Amino acid sequence: MKLRYKFVLSTMLLSHATAFADEHALAIKDAGGKPATQATVKANKAFAETLNFKDVRAFENDDKGLVAEFDKATGDIIRNSFKFIDVNSADRAPDTVNPSLWRQAVLNQRAKGLYEVLPGKIYQIRGTDLASLSFIRGKTGWIVYDVLTTKEASAQSLKFFKENVPEGGDLPVVAMLYSHSHADHFGGARAIEDAYPNVKVYGSKNITKETVDENVLAGNAMSRRTAYQYGATLGRNENGIVDAALSKGISTGEITYVTPDYELNHKGELETLKVDGLEMVFLDASGTEAPSEMVTYIPSMKALWTGEVTYQGMHNVYTLRGAKVRDSLKWSKKINEMITLWGDEVEVLFGSHSAPIWSTDEIVDYLKMQRDAYGFTHNQTLRLANNGYVLQDMGDKIYEVMPESIQKSWHTNGYHGTYSHNARAVYNMYLGYFDMNPANLNPLPIKPESAKFVEYMGGAQAIIKKAEQDITNGEYRFAATALNKVVQADPANLKARALLADAFEQMGYQAEGAGWRNIYLTGAQELRIGKVSPGAPKTASADILAEMAPGMMLDYIAVKVDSLKAQHTPFTVNITVSGDTYFVEMSNGNLSNIKVEKPKKGADATISLSGEGFTKILLGQAKLADLLESKEATIEGDNTVLAKLAGSLVEFDDKFEIVPFNSKSVDANLYK
Ligand SMILES: [Zn+2]
Repeated sequence: MKLRYKFVLSTMLLSHATAFADEHALAIKDAGGKPATQATVKANKAFAETLNFKDVRAFENDDKGLVAEFDKATGDIIRNSFKFIDVNSADRAPDTVNPSLWRQAVLNQRAKGLYEVLPGKIYQIRGTDLASLSFIRGKTGWIVYDVLTTKEASAQSLKFFKENVPEGGDLPVVAMLYSHSHADHFGGARAIEDAYPNVKVYGSKNITKETVDENVLAGNAMSRRTAYQYGATLGRNENGIVDAALSKGISTGEITYVTPDYELNHKGELETLKVDGLEMVFLDASGTEAPSEMVTYIPSMKALWTGEVTYQGMHNVYTLRGAKVRDSLKWSKKINEMITLWGDEVEVLFGSHSAPIWSTDEIVDYLKMQRDAYGFTHNQTLRLANNGYVLQDMGDKIYEVMPESIQKSWHTNGYHGTYSHNARAVYNMYLGYFDMNPANLNPLPIKPESAKFVEYMGGAQAIIKKAEQDITNGEYRFAATALNKVVQADPANLKARALLADAFEQMGYQAEGAGWRNIYLTGAQELRIGKVSPGAPKTASADILAEMAPGMMLDYIAVKVDSLKAQHTPFTVNITVSGDTYFVEMSNGNLSNIKVEKPKKGADATISLSGEGFTKILLGQAKLADLLESKEATIEGDNTVLAKLAGSLVEFDDKFEIVPFNSKSVDANLYK
């Protein structure tokens, strides 16, 4: 039974972050990268006209409280790789970057060291990773809130904090909190635990389960899509990736996990707890930005930690890498709860991305705006849907009904989640992908549909000619739709590929959303030079795998079964992992499993092994045969069942093509 769990782990752990080596992106930076067309220059200029560059509150907050700036020894790897971004150029975007996105890229580029949030009480390291590392002073030591993506970034940030915090640098870290189930908030946990073995660990409700569950079954597809969304293969330059919306980017290293000693909010939506003598109030926000999430209020400091429920931008109601749609109404309501519970007295707001905000008025203003941005997206999408607008219309329509105040506010701009894809997400959450138009009920699959489309339109040449005209006029959207049909029907049509790449690229240069930009530019890259391997994923530790329930692992194995291969080899087997027994049945080409009280009689075989042994097999570190030999596992009955299972499993293609999909017939010379 050869299983490849590593990529699942890496995807699962990556959540909303990219996993890929920076050097690789840099090595291929010269692929593509044409200048902005006149149409793009014009579009970006017109966009800039709509922006209020005089509002510099976010910049003032970003700069406030700098205690110590990273030196070369600290590394500052992420910021350095974006050093083409002038930190004083917020209102001077290059032609190839949307001016609003550029401003965000400049804002995030400024995070550069240890910051004081509340003197003597709260500090943050900002700029070493996708998220920030926050330190809160408890009675006997420091409480850290969110611990970055990797052990390396966490260790480096901890060291910098200890050396530079004005006082208390010698005190231990006594508690570690994870705000939610995304890896950029817990992956550095081992560095803290290594330094302070007695650290007490707290997490949001069901964090361990949700961390494991969110991305397993569709992991391979998510991983491939993640590389697109985060521009993993793009160069870091004005023609490539300029920002990750939440911050500059992600650290490289090992993602780890220390299971919390205590998960909050099981007793109720609000839980008050003393952490190292400091009273903290936890509000469950699960089901907003992550399936397990919380925000926290510290009454004695009048400090509100919003985790990732808010940041300086609109977040993803749907993340383009692929995940279940998030609940924008709940999101809006949770922000409203924060305002209602603490809006009268809160004096500082801080979180895991973006700089803090000081002053009650500004905080409440910010929270209301954030609340209304998610509420607006939810309510207006459904208002439009209830009047017959469908998913395809929603992306444009939502902007037409946007109140001026939401348009004008910087921190409700769609850097991570655009209103276009978020509105379509709301539609999808309530009504699904189908719009009730019978023409869309049973369309042909992509390739035959594309071939017919090209034929009806008078052939590839005719489409290319019209598209060229549109592209010359700076009209890229439909040209891309039509050229995509040509390329899908005939991936070897070089003219169509080149034109489609050009259209994608200009749309990328005009996009306000960081993800949109990266997706367009990566698509252009794939059309021009073929799919680029995003390099080796980060090494994931076995920390998380050890937390995965055997039932979930068996569910995952079932996704790898080739139904046609399996249909003639039915079997049944009891698998007992550390005392828990699962009855596993291959029937009709499908693998099912159910947890049972005791091994089911009449099964073809019964296998017993430890959780550790099971994990080893899944990690590819051991074969069942070895475990049988070393008596770490036992088998009774038909010992061919596992061979039958193994024979029915397929490997996923972790580099499948996206544009055009499945062009394997294309001569490799095409790309030379
Ligand atoms: Zn995050």
